[in-house]
Amino acid sequence: MTLDLAVHPAPAPLADDARAAILADPGFGRYFTDHMAVARWQDGAWQDAEITALAPFSLHPSAAVLHYGQEIFEGLKAYRHADGSVHLFRPEKNARRFAQSAERLALPVLPEDDFVATVAALVEADAAWVPTPRDASHEASLYIRPFMIATEAFLGVRPSQEVTYSVIASPAGPYFAGGVQGVALWVTEQYTRASRGGTGAAKCGGNYAASLAAQAEAREHGCDQVLYLDGEEHAWLEESGTMNLFLVTDDGELVTPSLGTILEGVTRDSILDLAPDLGLRTTERRVSLAELRDDLASGRVREVFAAGTAAVITPVTAFRGRDAATGDDYEVTVGDGAPGTTALAIRTALLDVQYGRAEDTRGWLR
Ligand code: PMP
Repeated sequence: MTLDLAVHPAPAPLADDARAAILADPGFGRYFTDHMAVARWQDGAWQDAEITALAPFSLHPSAAVLHYGQEIFEGLKAYRHADGSVHLFRPEKNARRFAQSAERLALPVLPEDDFVATVAALVEADAAWVPTPRDASHEASLYIRPFMIATEAFLGVRPSQEVTYSVIASPAGPYFAGGVQGVALWVTEQYTRASRGGTGAAKCGGNYAASLAAQAEAREHGCDQVLYLDGEEHAWLEESGTMNLFLVTDDGELVTPSLGTILEGVTRDSILDLAPDLGLRTTERRVSLAELRDDLASGRVREVFAAGTAAVITPVTAFRGRDAATGDDYEVTVGDGAPGTTALAIRTALLDVQYGRAEDTRGWLR
């Protein structure tokens, strides 16, 4: 820990009954806890690190983040166990990814233990905001959003000499309020998310700004999310806008697209680690859209699911897109169109560790 973190409790935290009303039905990303962590980087060093009352930032209108999007962020959760204790899930993986994103966006690298320490300190200050799940089938957690923005007042295009790092938190209810449901993915021909040498593997705001038009295109075609193909050949599966992709074959293989231009998901990594316990062989390799369509038609691919922190695992039950060769729209159903048993089993295995219902044999909880 290199940061000297001062803790200044919020003078006027939200009243207990008002907080309880929010925690009863928090939704996602709408309500925020009483505190935030903030640290500034100036003159080549981190300074003024504190946990303080959540408050708006004051930014000079020329701040680089507002013009050139020099920004990175992370997303992770804190989970309350049945005994009342609160746990982070693999925060050191987010710390590592944050450092890698910082390097790609020419932002200063926050030491990984400072990342974990500030996240932990914020959760400690706002522990009352970590929801208690009603029962083993209910999901409720505290979503944590660390981020770093370029704040220097300067319009030249070069790395900012002043930066703010901050962590905020927001209570989150179940992603699937009415039980896990399958989603349809729109295979976009029009947009790509990433290309070799680009920022696809970094978690930077620009990637998500660029995804919004593609997401609107998906909605127009009755799909919930986008599936991106590679930027060069437009032939290989990459990921969805906020989740990594997995295929389950009829002989027990779990296949996921290799790293490179995609985001290295913490959920993806955890699934690859857990899957052998469930009798699955895991493979990271390139998978073409043509192969996927053939294997769905023949039944060789039985299940498809997407994985990420927010929804954990989302079964994919259909793909829609426009055939590049014929120009016709197509739709393929995955399996019988219902969420697959493997996806649901992996989902349960992961949630059981996160919520303390299974032994944490891998030391993933902090
Ligand atoms: N891909 C993208 C583009 C994402 O935004 C996310 C969410 N961070 C993921 C994959 C999944 O990553 P994780 O499992 O770490 O949430």
